[in-house]
Amino acid sequence: MKCENCNKEHDGSYGSGRFCNTICSHSFSAKMNNSQRKNNISKSLKRNKNRYSFKHLSNEVRKSMTIKAHETLKRKRELLYNKGLWNELPLSYKRRKILEE
Ligand SMILES: [Zn+2]
Repeated sequence: MKCENCNKEHDGSYGSGRFCNTICSHSFSAKMNNSQRKNNISKSLKRNKNRYSFKHLSNEVRKSMTIKAHETLKRKRELLYNKGLWNELPLSYKRRKILEE
């Protein structure tokens, strides 16, 4: 079976079998606790960056950058989804996936 933290194969003998060892179990729960806070911080950072650094660019460039960023995000989410890292995905994406299935 696969460790939910590091994704490595293990025999499931530790705890309930979700993690390969106590380190992964602990870092996973720490990650869960921090993820909401981290999301909020990175979101507000991104907002500020967009507001201040794209002013000098033409609309055409800005548009293509947005599309590229969107595609990268989509690929990243597909990758997480395919790996079974459901908890890492945003709620809106989960909802869409549930509707598709
Ligand atoms: Zn692990």
